[in-house]
Parts: sequence; structure tokens; C-alpha cells
Amino acid sequence: MLRPYTSVFGGTMAKMRAMQVPQPQGPFELVERDIPEPGAGWVRIKVQACGICHSDSFTKEGTWPGIDYPRVPGHEVAGLIDALGEGVAGWETGQRVGVGWHGGHCGYCDSCRRGDFITCQNAPLVPGISYDGGYADYMVAPAGALALIPPELTPVEAGPLMCAGITTFNALRHSGAQPGDLVAILGIGGLGHLAVQFAAKMGFATVAIARGQDKGPLAQQLGARHYLDSTAQDVAAALQKLGGAKVIFSTVTKSQAMAAVLDGLGIDGKLVVIGAAFEPLEVPPTLLIMRRLAITGWPSGRSIDSQDTMAFSVLTGVRSMSEVYPLERAPEAYERMMSGQARFRVVLTTEQTR
Ligand SMILES: [Zn+2]
Ligand SMILES: [Zn+2]
Repeated sequence: MLRPYTSVFGGTMAKMRAMQVPQPQGPFELVERDIPEPGAGWVRIKVQACGICHSDSFTKEGTWPGIDYPRVPGHEVAGLIDALGEGVAGWETGQRVGVGWHGGHCGYCDSCRRGDFITCQNAPLVPGISYDGGYADYMVAPAGALALIPPELTPVEAGPLMCAGITTFNALRHSGAQPGDLVAILGIGGLGHLAVQFAAKMGFATVAIARGQDKGPLAQQLGARHYLDSTAQDVAAALQKLGGAKVIFSTVTKSQAMAAVLDGLGIDGKLVVIGAAFEPLEVPPTLLIMRRLAITGWPSGRSIDSQDTMAFSVLTGVRSMSEVYPLERAPEAYERMMSGQARFRVVLTTEQTR
């Protein structure tokens, strides 16, 4: 059911605001659009908050193949189910839900039949890339992509957990590290500040690695037992002194920075990469052989993994530290995220947030 909505443009009508990218590298445009209707199997979400992820630059800059423009970015969405499309079972209007990077799958390919929806071979949908995302007052998404938000989390808290949160939580819990193992987080930014918290709460001996001294006290406050300033010391040697890392978890987007810490891994150590870098990673093969090292990546997760991420966050007190901007200031908020200066995620809110 459409509810009348008073827009910033004046008047009461079934319209909404959306912040669209008109073409690759085009400027953001605040436009008025019809509130979308959910098709069969989809729901409409009244957006309350949407995190700004570095991967939104794929849409903004046009670096992801096959995007239809104009496109509304946003895949860290928290809101309320506002309408159900035909045939949607198990969800009702008014429920608090989130949608993340994983925004839908085909349901019949080999990956989907194994429940591995994130590697769907036919329709791995991403909000804000495959269809319009959360930089808007409303959006539509497949019901299978929804995660239920627990009452303890506000929309601003839930949003960043839908991509930055799930990616770090899910990758860490599948990294093979056991409680007590030395786990190093490379990069203390939007991903890293969550990774440090999750790693500490999972019981890993957590090492935070960043450039400069200024993030040291914060990293320790977030649960890191050790802080290594990569501009002041040989990080790999420092990790070896601590016994060698079981897992180094890279959230940075510089391949050289990843290569520089590899020698800090202990026997059977693993480098897990979640920061989306495009440059090749140069590695000496002998290092891999002699210590049986492995290098892997991890892509976010399914909707139920998002729900697990939120449940764990409620259980342990993990929260994103976020700077909050209203939707209409998305261009400024996006630049703030891209500058690398934000502490640490940037989240957009609509008038429906409170
Ligand atoms: Zn993301
Ligand atoms: Zn599939």
C-alpha cells in the first residue's frame, strides 16, 4: 500500500527522493521518483539508513561492468518492510530488515543448490549495481536477500553491518583461526575497525596494523592486544616476534602493503584478503612452500550471515563507529568516505530514520 509522503519538493504524493548517478563519473543528482512497486517475490523497503561503502565507487565511477544508468547506489540498507510483492512468504510489513552486498540470487544454479548464494552463477544481484539501492527513501529487493534486524540495533548501527560488518565477521569466522590464535588486522578504517572488534570478541590474540601512531590507542580500545605502526617498524618481523600470525586479515586496497606483511605469517598461516584491490599481488613462492602459507579472499555472505553478524554484534557489543549525513548530503558524504578521513564508516539517513 502506498502511503502519502511529504517530499522536500512540497506536496503530498506517492513520490520519493533518490540520489542517483546519471552516468559513469557523473555527479550525484537528487531526483524525485515514483515510489517503486515490488514485483513477484520482492518487497519494498522504507529506507531508514544506508551506509556508504567504498564499493559504491563501482557505480559512481563506472568501474563495474554492465551497470544501467541512471543508477541509485547503496548496499548497506536498513529499513522497514513497506509492501510485499506477490508470493512473498515468511515476511510481513513493518518488520525491520537490512539488505547488503548480496542482493539476490537465481535459486537454481549449482552454487545456489548448495546454498552458496553469494557465488550464484546466473544472477548474483547487488543493490545499487544490479538494481537501485539505498540512497533513496524507498527501494525494492528480493525477499531472499533480507536479514532481520534485531531490536537492539538502530538503523544507523545496522546499516554498516550489512556489508562492512558481514564481510569482516564472516571472513574471520571462516578463516580457520581458533580462540587464542594470533590474528593480525591490516588497515584500521571502515572495515578494519570492525574487524579488530570482531577478532577480539572471537577470542583471537588480535594485532592491529596501520600507518602512524594516531590509531594505536583506538585500536587497543577496540580490543587489539598489540598495535603495530607500519611506518615505524618492520611489521613482518614484529609479528614473527609475537610468534607468527595464524591469519593476517587485509582490509587495505594496496597490494604492496599486503605483500609487505606476508612474511609475518607463521607455519600454516593464511593471508585473507577482503580489501578490493585491482593491482596484482606479488608473492615469493618459496615463502608459501616452506611455511605452507595460503592466500585467500572472502566475498561478504548470504542474508542469514548478515543476521548472524547482527546477532553476534548484539551479543558482544560490536558496533560501527559512523559519521551520519542526511540523504540530501550524499555527495559530500561520499567524498568524505573516499577521502579515507572518515571515522570510520559514513551512513546516510532519511527523514524516516527516527
Ligand atoms: Zn560494500
Ligand atoms: Zn544461482
